[in-house]
Amino acid sequence: MKQTRNTTAKTEILKLISQSTVALSHSEIQNNLDGLCDRVTIYRVLDRLVEEDLVHKVVNIDGGVKYASCNHKEAVHHSHNHIHFSCEECHTVTCLEDVKPSFELPKRYQVKEVNFTVSGICPECSS
Ligand SMILES: [Zn+2]
Ligand SMILES: [Zn+2]
Repeated sequence: MKQTRNTTAKTEILKLISQSTVALSHSEIQNNLDGLCDRVTIYRVLDRLVEEDLVHKVVNIDGGVKYASCNHKEAVHHSHNHIHFSCEECHTVTCLEDVKPSFELPKRYQVKEVNFTVSGICPECSS
């Protein structure tokens, strides 16, 4: 039952991402799933979750992609224009949903997506 397995994978992956306080990479997700599904399935599920606006992609300083859950305050399509914090010590990426980057672009430049990652030391590592 391929469909059932994919649905299970989707549920499990979404659960994993929403329960995590930090963004997760593909391999971290795969390790946590304990062989429930293969990498291709995970990629497919992640793509679908991004499409459905349940998770969003985070591009880390090193170019690696991580995934974080979307905390919708209301059920409307929202833009992910918050800042991400990347810790140099523990390599975690955290969504700072309340911090909105502010900038002004020259005329005629249209913003479609904002990818704002700040790197440094997280509170966990600096204490
Ligand atoms: Zn840290
Ligand atoms: Zn985020």
